[in-house]
Amino acid sequence: MPGTLRATGIVTLVAAALLGSAYALGRSLVPDRPRHGTGVAASVNSPHYSDQPPVPTDSPEPTGTSPTPKDGPHRADVGEGPFGSLISTGSARVALTFDDGPDPQYTPQVLALLREYGVKATFCVVGENAATHPDLIQQIAAQGHTLCNHSWNHDIALGKRSPDAIRADLLRTNTAIRAAVPNARIEYFRQPGGAWTYPVVSVCEELGMAPLHWAVDPSDWQAPGAGKITAAVMAHTGPGSIVLMHDAGGNRAGTVTALQYLLPELMNRFQLEALPTGTT
Ligand SMILES: [Zn+2]
Repeated sequence: MPGTLRATGIVTLVAAALLGSAYALGRSLVPDRPRHGTGVAASVNSPHYSDQPPVPTDSPEPTGTSPTPKDGPHRADVGEGPFGSLISTGSARVALTFDDGPDPQYTPQVLALLREYGVKATFCVVGENAATHPDLIQQIAAQGHTLCNHSWNHDIALGKRSPDAIRADLLRTNTAIRAAVPNARIEYFRQPGGAWTYPVVSVCEELGMAPLHWAVDPSDWQAPGAGKITAAVMAHTGPGSIVLMHDAGGNRAGTVTALQYLLPELMNRFQLEALPTGTT
């Protein structure tokens, strides 16, 4: 890593630590998480996405804390997230997940950091981005990370479409991933914006994918800065947490900087893992 980047990282660490304390204090005084935005993609044709759920009335908002981890090496078959989606690894291990890519600017930076620390993670990729950047899909797979389907073009309203339309979207995305990595295992689907519905969960399970939600959301897609991203992840990650971050969909410099601090800190506290695939 270039020296300047390293120096920037160190400065950011100090800032992150200071901000983290203030942020944690602030959060402790505020009982409910702030709710942001509508979860609607910034532009129909732009690859700028967001994963903030549109505050569905019939599903619980993630609490930012993890449920009690289950014993045993395998993930729970039925998750505790919206519509039975997974929010825990099913063990004490923590899983980092990166959404909305691959992105030619930020995905390589995230991959380089994960490689530097020897950490495996999970990448929830958007089909049209996979089709545009098959080389990055290949790098993700070659480094041993887990691939997750995140829909063809990040359609927040996908779950309200017909089962046939949902199925076509998910299959098109898997086809794009497998055009890059022919035998890729794709055993997870994450609904854009976390806007789960019964039909989307049903179709994703029919296609052999587990619905993947999250327990910890630092809202990094809003680019709040490395300090806030770091503080939120450190404050809310516990045993078994699935952590949501973004390697694409906007300016992710803050996420990349936060990772320089988060990876060693999380490794001090937890075992990090990619979500398991290929266990059958
Ligand atoms: Zn997303």
